[in-house]
Amino acid sequence: MLDKCIDNLKDEIIKETCNLINFPSVSEETSDPNMPFGKHAKDALEYALDLGQKLGFRTKNIDGYCGYIEFGEGEKLVGIIGHLDVVPSGDGWLTPPFEATIKDGNIYGRGAIDDKGPVVASLYAMKAIKDNIKINSRVRLILGINEEKSWNCIRHYNEIEEAPTIGFSPDADFPCIYAEKGIATVYIKDNYQKYSNLPIIIKEIDCNNNAINVVPKYCKVILSVDTSRIDLNEITPFLSNEIKKLNFDITYSVNNSNIELISNGVQAHSAHPDLGINAISRMIILLNKIFKNFNCPISILDFFENYIGTEFNGKSLDINFSDESGNLTLNVGKFSFYDNFLQIGINLRIPVNTPIEKVTDSISEICNKYSLETVVSGIQQPLYVPKDDPLVKTLCDIFNKRNHSNYEPIAIGGGTYARAFKNCVSFGANFPGDTDMCHQANEFINIDKLILACKIYADAIYELSK
Ligand SMILES: [Zn+2]
Repeated sequence: MLDKCIDNLKDEIIKETCNLINFPSVSEETSDPNMPFGKHAKDALEYALDLGQKLGFRTKNIDGYCGYIEFGEGEKLVGIIGHLDVVPSGDGWLTPPFEATIKDGNIYGRGAIDDKGPVVASLYAMKAIKDNIKINSRVRLILGINEEKSWNCIRHYNEIEEAPTIGFSPDADFPCIYAEKGIATVYIKDNYQKYSNLPIIIKEIDCNNNAINVVPKYCKVILSVDTSRIDLNEITPFLSNEIKKLNFDITYSVNNSNIELISNGVQAHSAHPDLGINAISRMIILLNKIFKNFNCPISILDFFENYIGTEFNGKSLDINFSDESGNLTLNVGKFSFYDNFLQIGINLRIPVNTPIEKVTDSISEICNKYSLETVVSGIQQPLYVPKDDPLVKTLCDIFNKRNHSNYEPIAIGGGTYARAFKNCVSFGANFPGDTDMCHQANEFINIDKLILACKIYADAIYELSK
């Protein structure tokens, strides 16, 4: 009966997924109390809450930070936690990223799989239950609009609203996630004033505003050379030679006393640095070679080449921990000037059994030896629910039963809202074997899988509300 009801809702599910994709709801952190995360995120949230109301649910907008859509009665509160903000579109799209396009059985657009499609699937799963089955719990779809940035939406929720008794976040992979690595960002800083008299100066750094949780694909640096002390004709042969030796995709051009260097890489999610090529790391390695060759070493660059380089497992830093949740990974996501400091930002994904401080302390210790400062931010404690925990087992069984499969729960390096609550794990909507389209150009969700996800979520709501 539920399946039939959901099949009948198929057109509506597709339409509303498209409608939400059409909001370019990148979260902006503003000082306007009426729209703390910007107009587009606000509009997307209001649209979803209105839709919830039209479908016969109770809704609440929580001070513009987030909102919820709810039905049912009873003490127990089953939570479904998703988000309506998206990462910027980036380039490389074949269709307009904020105009949903249906093609080859897929819906294309930014947010299709992360997380608007899964949110709509959850909402219509709730509707199917509400209209057909009597349950003895409340079911609440919680919608954040600052997930891709700072999680201030869900922090606000937790300060003033009731926490779910049990729940899931439709914002990762099926069959079910039982472990999410710890996350931290370490900024390493070197006071650049002490290098102001060197014959070569870093004049400008531009990494296209790369987000810390993205493997950077571009890094430009402009060096200014004091030609009374260093002959430019000495630098260029050195540069071509070094770039060739390193075999990096870096180009250079000389304009009067300036040298412009451009490093190209391949973008990826920072939880999967192995899938990308880090343009910043390569740039810093080359810079260190230049500064050392002309006898003007810069501590932070030298530290970087010795302890990080192109590694993403932390081996040289002696932090290459691993356990059943996987290996530690690091992504060099920022390279910039900040006040008078030259800084490098490193985003870490830390196995669940390794205390985050153990990793950040080791980095600080080595940095101390180079007289570098470190600042740790963005700590998210890991999530770990044993594989045989009833919640994990129930969700995994629901998925496997639907798919006649035998998948085991998995561990990921990404962070979802599941870790913002006790007794909550992430569940879909990427299917096993699917290419992960999160944060990629040409993001899409397959329509058949969207409808199947809706049925799986309906099963889950029914089971968890018992
Ligand atoms: Zn997401």
